[in-house]
Amino acid sequence: MVTDTPDMQLLWPPCDAQLRDVFLRMLEDGSWGRYQGPHGDALTAALAEYHGVDHCVVCCSGTAAVELSLRAAGVGSGDEVLMCAYDFKANLVNVLHLGAVPVLVDTVPGQPIMDVRGLEAAVTSRSKALIASHLHGLSAPMAELRQFCRTHSLVLIEDACQNPGAVLDGRRAGAHGDLGVLSFGGSKLLTAGRGGAILTSSKTFVQRIHLCTQRGNEAYPLSEMQAAVLLPQLRQLDVRNAHRAVSVEILRKRLEGNHVLRAVLPAGFTAETGDHSGHDTAAFYKMAFLLSVGYSAEFREQLSAMCLRSGIPMYPGFSALQTIHAKSRYRGIGTLENSAELGKRLMVLHHPVLLQEPAKIDEMALELCRILQSMRG
Ligand SMILES: *Cc1c(COP(=O)(O)O)cnc(C)c1O
Repeated sequence: MVTDTPDMQLLWPPCDAQLRDVFLRMLEDGSWGRYQGPHGDALTAALAEYHGVDHCVVCCSGTAAVELSLRAAGVGSGDEVLMCAYDFKANLVNVLHLGAVPVLVDTVPGQPIMDVRGLEAAVTSRSKALIASHLHGLSAPMAELRQFCRTHSLVLIEDACQNPGAVLDGRRAGAHGDLGVLSFGGSKLLTAGRGGAILTSSKTFVQRIHLCTQRGNEAYPLSEMQAAVLLPQLRQLDVRNAHRAVSVEILRKRLEGNHVLRAVLPAGFTAETGDHSGHDTAAFYKMAFLLSVGYSAEFREQLSAMCLRSGIPMYPGFSALQTIHAKSRYRGIGTLENSAELGKRLMVLHHPVLLQEPAKIDEMALELCRILQSMRG
């Protein structure tokens, strides 16, 4: 057993001096209880600057941010939206909500990332937009997706809810699409309990979003209180992401050569700092692991339960979208076998434990290896 494992509730969100100070100042100046004030404006400006985009619109959730992005893209009844068959469930439901058809493209084998090779067969005259999500520390191939979307006049929506602060090809995650989406949900790397944001450099998209959100009053608001607690977290994001990457590296090394479970990481991810392929950096909301072929869904449930008992927040990943929706609701491209496999064999470690000291991470990695050993034998 890992001894004195801190309660997950106490690990995230962090109780640090910066947040304590923000809460206290809000209490004293009353800004927490106002409709409008300096915090929202400061956050919007800081997010746009951090991501190197012209505009940021904050809203009430990541899910709402995806919906608003689809609306900005002009997605409506009968349109088609290309997306990965392994994705956050609400992204598909958002497409349905607008009366559009989700077109599911398979993943790269063994990775929770859209395979661009499936795209040509997916696009039709009704295709309007493409949602690309960065999941579990891996990033979607944005350069190729941008090229594809340009060729086919699709609006590219980049879901960066799981990797705020990551850098790919020299730009922050969320700044590669025509529209980028962030979540400030209670479990996320930047958290206000609830909340979200849309990043874009298009004034037209901002105007279309405002048509939905501004109805003589804000329809999807992020509160001053939420904005205030996000500001210090944004300032600490890079340092914390680097810390998490060091922990991920320790876990990867400890599991190297394990025959049951292996870490799934961005290509070239090795360095202690978390740098991979040049100056790119990953951000880990979840760290992904793949069970070897032959291990059942029941085995995965058991492993998860044993990990949780030892204070290791390890869970099954997403279900493949085609396995949880009726065939009439989506159009699938090809067999979708890779995403189906991931739906059965992927596991994710939740990020709060990654901010612990290296010795703790090592202890956790050894405990995970012990659990795997005990389950085999
Ligand atoms: C969490 C998440 C969202 C939605 O965020 P909420 O703020 O919880 O609505 C969207 N996409 C991905 C990939 C997520 O992980």
